[in-house]
Amino acid sequence: MELSEEIRNKYQPVIGLEIHAQMLTQTKAYSSDKNEYGAAPNTLVSPITLGHPGTLPMMNAKTIDYAIKMGIACGSEITPEQHFARKNYFYPDLPKGYQITQDTTPICTGGEILIKDDQGQDKRIGITRIHMEEDAGKSIHDIDPFNTLIDLNRAGVPLIEIVSEPDLRSSQEAYNYVTEVRKLVRYLDICDGNMEEGSLRCDANISVMLKGSDKYGVRVEVKNMNSIRNVQRAIEYEITRHIIAIEKGETLYQETRNFDALKGATSSMRSKEAANDYRFFPEPDLQPITVTKAKIEKLASEMPPLPQALFAKYTNELKLSDYDAHLLTDQKEIALYFEEIIKKTSNYKASVNWLMGDIKSYLNANALEITDFKISPADIAGLINLIDSGKISNNLASQKVFPEMLIQHKSAQEIAEENDWIQNSNEDEIKTIIQGVFQENPVEFERLKQGDQKLMGFFMGKIMQKSQGKADPKSASKLINELIKNS
Ligand code: ADP
Ligand code: MG
Repeated sequence: MELSEEIRNKYQPVIGLEIHAQMLTQTKAYSSDKNEYGAAPNTLVSPITLGHPGTLPMMNAKTIDYAIKMGIACGSEITPEQHFARKNYFYPDLPKGYQITQDTTPICTGGEILIKDDQGQDKRIGITRIHMEEDAGKSIHDIDPFNTLIDLNRAGVPLIEIVSEPDLRSSQEAYNYVTEVRKLVRYLDICDGNMEEGSLRCDANISVMLKGSDKYGVRVEVKNMNSIRNVQRAIEYEITRHIIAIEKGETLYQETRNFDALKGATSSMRSKEAANDYRFFPEPDLQPITVTKAKIEKLASEMPPLPQALFAKYTNELKLSDYDAHLLTDQKEIALYFEEIIKKTSNYKASVNWLMGDIKSYLNANALEITDFKISPADIAGLINLIDSGKISNNLASQKVFPEMLIQHKSAQEIAEENDWIQNSNEDEIKTIIQGVFQENPVEFERLKQGDQKLMGFFMGKIMQKSQGKADPKSASKLINELIKNS
């Protein structure tokens, strides 16, 4: 599909996202079946999950805690009195014939998520609501050529659905929003955020309107994007499709569409007219939930540091660049490691550089995560402090001390001392070395005296060689200049 820049610019895309996040609980939402990805098909399925007559669901309290944490993180209102509802529909992977969800009393309402807009400015995306529900099983179409196979392990896995306001204005903003939501659930440790495995899923609602208009266009909902990149691609595809249709004078209908990642295109699944009537009614088998103020306060006090707050701290208090703060807060484990380093050193910039430089390279080269890293943050701080006190140079730290620390699990100080690497800032010793080097290279010495600064590097090299790298470069160059002046 081709569309000129000029025509595209007449339109304003409008996007709202519904994100389903599988909760990282041990057991399912309403039964003690294990909540586990990748188990042999249909092994995590009890009569409760199947909704057999005589069975009763029982609420997993962890799910409630997790949903409340997400609500607190978004600044949402937590609903004090909630009840569950049955959403009825027939589908092969829905063994009970209904899904237990929250309809009129979602656990969280309102709130927002902070993202960057296309210009890199802060933008607040409103949260309409967050509610708890259960996942369905999985229909598998690509194993048996003649039949659809059903795996019910996923049936009953607890989900929260996070519904955004139609506040997003481009596919890039949508990309940034999903990235932020994923970061947040990972910081909160309530969902692993893995889109390939389907622990985080996103439906995108898309419409376009003429710029300056205040009347939203007809929206479609696109499903089945298994990466954030594909969410963006699907939205781009829809924006173009809508504009072309409108320009041709065609009418758009509210419908649900499917995204095909191979084709990079969407196709119609069902129109809104054919949409299910879910016949919601109150779930009679589950008690209503009451959330007290004390409960919310307790959960709030247990919240880990969140990426936004850390970002603000790093830029405002520690005076780090936006770029560095972004690198640090991108992954919770990295941020937490950094937090530990800076308990023992106030050289914040060096801490970022070590963490995102030598440490990250080592981890990448060995396919490790920061949580696998054996050197403690305190020892990294010790290494930084050793450099800052002038006892070892940056180069020596990076090339010799750090690699030794990886092998020996000793402090930088110990390693530097054992190997006799502590820099020599004893001026008399360095002076003797310099004088020796001058005598051995009289021609070069004359040229340096005449002001040929290129020879400074030549002599520094010789001095480092003679001192086995231990001469402090700063005092060495100071002494060279003094000796020349006095010669
Ligand atoms: P439904 O059950 O029909 O999916 P929901 O309330 O669950 O309705 O979700 C509606 C989603 O569609 C929200 O994320 C909302 O922001 C978004 N939305 C509503 N109107 C528009 C529109 N005109 N264009 C794009 N997105 C929209
Ligand atoms: Mg929807």
